[in-house]
Parts: sequence; structure tokens; C-alpha cells
Amino acid sequence: MVTLYDTTLRDGTQREGMSLSVDDKLRIAMRLDDLGVHYIEGGFPGSNPKDIEFFARAGDLKLETAVVSAFGTTCRKGVAAEDDEGLRALLDTGCKALCVFGKAWDVHVTDALNASLDENLRMVRDSIALLKAAGRTVFFDAEHFFDGYRANPGYALDVCRAAAGAGADAVVLCDTNGGTLPQDVARVVREVAGALPGVALGIHAHNDGACAVANSLVAVDAGCTHVQGTANGYGERAGNADLVSIIAALVLKMGDDCVSADQLRLLTEVSHFVAETANVSPNPHQPYVGASAFAHKGGVHASAVARLPEAYEHIDPARVGNLARVVVSELAGRASLTMKAAELGIDLTGDQATAAKVLDGIKELEHRGYSFETADATLEVMLKKELGTYEPFFTLESFRCLMEKREDGRVMTEATVKVHVGGHRYIATAEGNGPVNALDGALRIAIGRFYPALDDIELTDFKVRVLDEKKGTGAVTRVLIESGDGEKSWGTVGVSENIIEASWEALVDSVEFGLAHPKPAD
Ligand SMILES: [Zn+2]
Repeated sequence: MVTLYDTTLRDGTQREGMSLSVDDKLRIAMRLDDLGVHYIEGGFPGSNPKDIEFFARAGDLKLETAVVSAFGTTCRKGVAAEDDEGLRALLDTGCKALCVFGKAWDVHVTDALNASLDENLRMVRDSIALLKAAGRTVFFDAEHFFDGYRANPGYALDVCRAAAGAGADAVVLCDTNGGTLPQDVARVVREVAGALPGVALGIHAHNDGACAVANSLVAVDAGCTHVQGTANGYGERAGNADLVSIIAALVLKMGDDCVSADQLRLLTEVSHFVAETANVSPNPHQPYVGASAFAHKGGVHASAVARLPEAYEHIDPARVGNLARVVVSELAGRASLTMKAAELGIDLTGDQATAAKVLDGIKELEHRGYSFETADATLEVMLKKELGTYEPFFTLESFRCLMEKREDGRVMTEATVKVHVGGHRYIATAEGNGPVNALDGALRIAIGRFYPALDDIELTDFKVRVLDEKKGTGAVTRVLIESGDGEKSWGTVGVSENIIEASWEALVDSVEFGLAHPKPAD
């Protein structure tokens, strides 16, 4: 069984623009534990106070399988391990598992560290021996191992031997610069395994050559039993090895039981949870877990998938908690629309006449500039209108939007809506930083007293594209709105020659969908 060592909370946070609070880190740790990850590296206690707070609070986490680990470096040059502050900080975290890195590339030792090759071996040996003597599980990250092995294989192996000899529980071969190719990783891991029999080996890959997942998998095939990576591949530069893809491949394609079938079904959810917590939009095209990872677009293709999913899907998406999804577009046939409707909880199988009618409607709307690929919620509203099951939550009498550019450079927008709801007429006005924001505010004031669930609905993303219509009256604007209630998200679309009208359309569908599918009460 492969040991999974997650470093999202340490190496992952090296990603440009990513910052996690201590609470974020604790929440992510809980979810990684649900997924069945064995070790969760929480941070570098010597490097910042946030990590020290994390370790102070991590002791209270109720983890099922995962062990929290702290990361640090070997003792400093010329300093005895027992006198080294960094090693002391590692022990002080109280973590049962610790990971220290040391140099494995000779020029880094002599030129960057300015130490002798023997002194570096001492630092590795003494540091690991000290941590082992304290009763901890200790992993050794051999930094720049693959580049070092290319330059001076004998010395790179000596570093690994020093770590193993001092009792390291695994010697982790790091592709720190991330440029090594899978065939070289496979060959080197085999050579190292041959040279160091009985030593547990690990892999820590970066994605600079777009090979981090492949490198991790070939390393396991060649004898590594410990894999380090991050959720969604977050990390510095091009990122780390994506543990999400690695876990799926290990279990589904390599027969490893690093996580159970039940844990694997949490993969999509945990991946999205980490993304949302880190405030990164989930990548729809991410293998295994992306919203488009099992999306079928072509009409013929989609109907074939319905009959024989194995013909077009490399795994059953349910095994990683994802869904096959039909992308409705001009290319869609009746079969794909029926499947799409089923996803939305609407049964069209016995009503092919309606299916055909809706399909014609979709084709007509797409011709006018609508796009339903990320606008399932608008599609649902449309289907309900066609089936006669649509009940509006309010009706619009009128809206008005005023924009004012002021002398000091500020732009203010004010919107007034007049709506009818529950037999009454309401007028509300709100200000905003733009028309959508102001209309949204006014609509919430007007109907909020009837629909408290509106408080949960938030507009999370807003995209505008000007479409160049070949024929007719000139350009139209397409507005896509993403909304969420903290549990699910949905997309809506509006199209008009007028950007405010297009925005209003998408906004109304968003609110109607959100109100039709309220979040279950806690
Ligand atoms: Zn790294």
C-alpha cells in the first residue's frame, strides 16, 4: 500500500496568490483526513507564526487516519543537532511525524551551503538520529535528488544512505526543479532501489515539465512506496504533483488500496472543497474531478455514451464522486437533452414532443447568442416553462438603472425595481458599484421579506462577452452569472443588445433557481 503524504498546507501554499488562514488549514486537514490521506504536512514551524499556531491547534483535531506532520531542514552547518533551533522547533510542535529536507546535489552543498560534502552528510545523519531518538516518524526529503544524481550519483546515494542509516522511515527523492521526465525517474528509482535494498523510498515531484503526476506514478511502479503531493497540484511555479489524480490512478488503475472505495468517492468533493477554501476557481477541465471531466458534447457521441458509457469514459465517474454530464448545445440531440433534464430532476423520457420543442428552442437561442454550457439553471427554468410547471417567484413591472460618473472619478449606479409578489406591488431602490450589483440589491430589498432563503444566495462570478452577430442589427452582449449558496453553485445566462437587460435576465434566472432549490436547513 502506498503511503500518501499531503503537503497542500506547506508546499501548496507556495502557489502565487494563495494564502490560507489557520482556520482554513484546519478545515482542509479535516477533509484530507476524510479522504484517507495518511500524513498531512501542516507547515514549516521555523518559518512563521501562523504555522506555529496551526500546530498548537492541530493537536485538538479529531483525525481518523491522518497524522499531522511538520516540515523543517537539517541542522545548520557547524551546529550540533541537539543545539539546532530549527530541529527544536520541529520537536516542539509535538507532531508524531516530521519531515526534514537536506541537500543531495553536490554543487548545492559546496556552492550554496558553502559546506564540505562530509559536513552535509553529518548534518543529515545527526538530524535524523536526533528526531528518531525522540520517538518520531521521520521522513527525509532529498532535495534536488534527480539533478544531483545526474551530476554525481555516488554522492546523491551517500546522502540517502546517511538518512537511511540514521533511521529515516522513508527517503524521499525530490524532483525539486520539476524538469525530470518519466523515463528518467523510472530508471533512477530502479537504480536507487537496487543500490539501497530495504530502504523505503518516496517521490516528491514538481510539475515544471508537466510530468509531476506521471513521474509519481512511474516512481511507484519502480519501487517507491511513499508519495508526496498537493490537492489539485497547487504549488510554486507550475505546481506540485496533483494528489487527486495520483490517488485515482493508484486505486483505479494500479490496484493500490491507499484509500478505500468509499473514501475515493469523496475525491471530487474534497478537491472542490480545497479549491473553494483556497479561493481558487475549481478547474472544470481537471482530470477525474473537473465539472467537464466527463462532459459529452457531440449529439451522436452523447447518445452513444448513454448506451455504452465505457466506450467514451476511461473510468466510471461515480467511483471518484463525479458525474457524467451532457453539455447541451446546438450539437445536442434529443437523447442528450433527455439525459440533461434527468440530471436536473425532470423526466422527459415519456414526452419526446416536449423534448423536441425544447431542443428547437435551444437551437434558436444559441443562434441568438445564448450558451447553455455553464448555464444549467437557465436551462432548467426554460424546461419548466415549456412543461408548464414554472411558477414565477415574482413578476416584474419595470426596472430602471441610472449611472453617474462623479468629478472625483467614482462611478455610482442606482437601480429601482417595481415588482409584484404575493398580491402586492413593491418598489425598491439600491445603489451599487455597477448595474448588476445595484439591480441585485434592489431586487433583494423588494422580495427579500417573502423569501428569506435569498440571504443564502450570492453572485460569485460575472462574465460579459460581446458577440459579433454576423447578420442583422449589430453586436449583442452575453452575460454569464455564477451563483452559489455555500453548498452548490449554478450558472445562468442572459443575452441582449443591451448589457443591463442581459444582466437582468441572468440575474432573475439565478434568483429563481436559487429559490427553487433552497439549501437544506442546518
Ligand atoms: Zn516541493
